[in-house]
Amino acid sequence: MSVEPNPSWFTTAHHELGHVYYFTGYTRPEVPPLLRNGANPAFHESFGELTALAAAQVPYLKSVGVLPADFKADETAFLLNNALSRGIPFIYWSSGVMAHWEADVYAKNLPANEWNQRWWRYVGEFQGVEAPSERGEEFCDPATKTRINDNPAFY
Ligand SMILES: [Zn+2]
Repeated sequence: MSVEPNPSWFTTAHHELGHVYYFTGYTRPEVPPLLRNGANPAFHESFGELTALAAAQVPYLKSVGVLPADFKADETAFLLNNALSRGIPFIYWSSGVMAHWEADVYAKNLPANEWNQRWWRYVGEFQGVEAPSERGEEFCDPATKTRINDNPAFY
């Protein structure tokens, strides 16, 4: 792994551990082979995010030495940070941009020559973000996303 000792990688590592924990829940010999898959990709992601959220809680941070044992948390600030740094922004991405674009492409057969324009339209509508430069159909910016090019998560 090419990780750095910082909050972002701390959260990502715990998210990935959540996947591992869920994998180990159903990939055991006593589970029939037919059932040795996750419920669906979104459920898998929920385990990752739940684990990452749990890892951001003060008692855990104290237990692993990230915070000093006598640290007095501003609980409101921690809750706001958890919500505003990951959870709430992710909703606009996952159930806005991703869900609508995937539905247009996979369920409604959006022509490939409209994919990029549609992507940036949704990024603007749901996230309030504009493309950094003119992004024509010679690009396919959504294809840079792992959850689109390799491992659709069905957010
Ligand atoms: Zn994940």
